[in-house]
Amino acid sequence: MPPGGRGMNRFLSDEEKAQAPKVTWPLLKRIFSYLAPYRFQLILALVSIGISSVLDMYPSILTGKIVDDGLIGRSMEVLIRLIIISFLLKIGSNLIGVFQNYINSWIAQHITFDMRNQMFRHLLKMSNRFFTENNQGDIITRMTDDISGVQQIITNTFSSILSNVITLIAALVAMYNRNAILATLALLIVPLLSLPTRMAGKKRWSLTKEAQEARDEINGILNETLSVSGQLLVKLFNAEETEYEKYRSSNEKMINLNIKESMAGRWFRMMMTTFTSFGPMLIYLAGGILMMRYNADLTVGDITVMVSLLSRMYGPVNSLMSIGVDWIRSMANFTRIFDYFDMKPEIAEKENPIRPDTVKGDIKFNHVNFSYNPDRQILKDIDFNLESGKCIAFVGPSGSGKSTIVNLIPRLYDVDSGSVEFDGYDVRDLDLSWLRSEVGLVSQETYLFSGSIKDNLLYAKPDATMEEIYDACKKANIHDFIIEQPEGYDTLVGNRGLKLSGGEKQRISIARVLLKDPSVMIFDEATSALDTISEDLIQSAIEPLIEERTSILIAHRLSTVLIADEIMVIKDGMIVERGKHEDLIKLNGVYTELYEKQFKRLK
Ligand code: ATP
Repeated sequence: MPPGGRGMNRFLSDEEKAQAPKVTWPLLKRIFSYLAPYRFQLILALVSIGISSVLDMYPSILTGKIVDDGLIGRSMEVLIRLIIISFLLKIGSNLIGVFQNYINSWIAQHITFDMRNQMFRHLLKMSNRFFTENNQGDIITRMTDDISGVQQIITNTFSSILSNVITLIAALVAMYNRNAILATLALLIVPLLSLPTRMAGKKRWSLTKEAQEARDEINGILNETLSVSGQLLVKLFNAEETEYEKYRSSNEKMINLNIKESMAGRWFRMMMTTFTSFGPMLIYLAGGILMMRYNADLTVGDITVMVSLLSRMYGPVNSLMSIGVDWIRSMANFTRIFDYFDMKPEIAEKENPIRPDTVKGDIKFNHVNFSYNPDRQILKDIDFNLESGKCIAFVGPSGSGKSTIVNLIPRLYDVDSGSVEFDGYDVRDLDLSWLRSEVGLVSQETYLFSGSIKDNLLYAKPDATMEEIYDACKKANIHDFIIEQPEGYDTLVGNRGLKLSGGEKQRISIARVLLKDPSVMIFDEATSALDTISEDLIQSAIEPLIEERTSILIAHRLSTVLIADEIMVIKDGMIVERGKHEDLIKLNGVYTELYEKQFKRLK
């Protein structure tokens, strides 16, 4: 949401103007489809808005009678009766207002509840590509701000349009009933006097926006320089003075803007109070002239009613003048949300997918070509066969495409041409959840969410017993480490929990995959050098696993390469050499080079 909040921000920014969506019938129909389930509540809301707006106006109309019949007529009884009636009407309209607020927010919350759930479910289905190509912040903004925007529209915009229109109509009817000339005058005065206020508001808004940008800039500087790595960079490059100067000048810019902003606010209020007080004066003057010079059929009470109604009209007129802004923003919110809903999940299951009863774990790549973006092919004619129970190791320079190959097996991406087969079935024909449950991937970047170690492990198998958990952790060589922690398996990890080393995280992640008990294990070895102890612990964890199931290793260390039944050397997305270590080393090619440069060193 642009700075200043929705309340005061009655003007569109240039960006918003440029991106204003086209309002089409299908768009409106789609918006109404979200309102449709709540039509009865909507009707109730509309009726209560109508009643409360009219009741709210009524005491203003009664002021005429209070003046004429009560005060000028010198009747205490009439005066008290009218005051009590006005008071009751006010209470009535306010009580209905409370109810209307409840029903409004009930509808808005239910609509956004539906939308948020629908959006979250949709996002969970989106492919890996979607998340790598879209900024996480943008995705979260859709979930939070855009959907909250929709809620605002329903609670504020819709109801305020309606109550404003009703208030205005009721005020005008009441005014024309008293005196057509004064009513017409009021009709002209209100928008005319609202214009200067609007202009001042626009200036104030642009200053607020500038001040907000300056504040963002300062926050950016603070975030960067005061972060752990930022301050280190500053120290190591002796940049304290430069950073200080940068901060000082932004800070100076901000205080100047803050002063201007505050003054603009004062001017704005001044204009508002001055111009709104002109209105009543004009009505008194015109009323006085009509009454005294032209003997018009007009009482003091009538003029009081006119003035009272006039001051009730400014708010609604101001609001309605910027309805266009609210409308465009609302449409933009809806369009942005619908854009997401319309994105088809790239990796989708076929109709009636195959869910085999038995599983072996054979994997076959048939002349696979693949690219992330059309302009650069990553995998070229990858063709190999991995029989169940065997182990293949992929080696090759960084960026050659090893992780990409394994990503195609659990369908994180789909091939451009050729095919990937699992147990003789094209992976695209298989039931996606079945396929993913049979493929366990321990990736380089292990992700543990905030929670206990046990919670993280249970993610793989929510109904696992403690025995199963211990067993998996023992196999992954992490059990001893976990029970040494004060809270054992209940130790918290993640952002606010225990800081785990890369090796410990990898071992927990191996245990997590083991609990899932997949028939194929893929192990993407971390490129960053782990210390020898971590390395050995991981190594001795994966060796027996490889013995017992089909596995693929992306190897950066010789010890890992040596346990494989076959080694494939990947370079520029192609398999350039394949065979056993002893044979490959004799070729004197890419493998030999890797061996000399990398494996020997990390042996
Ligand atoms: P490493 O040994 O460093 O892990 P790798 O051999 O596993 O490397 P990949 O991760 O498969 O290499 O990457 C192959 C190429 O694809 C790289 O050039 C990389 O920049 C590119 N790439 C990887 N992921 C994406 C992505 N999501 N979108 C676009 N390009 C990508």
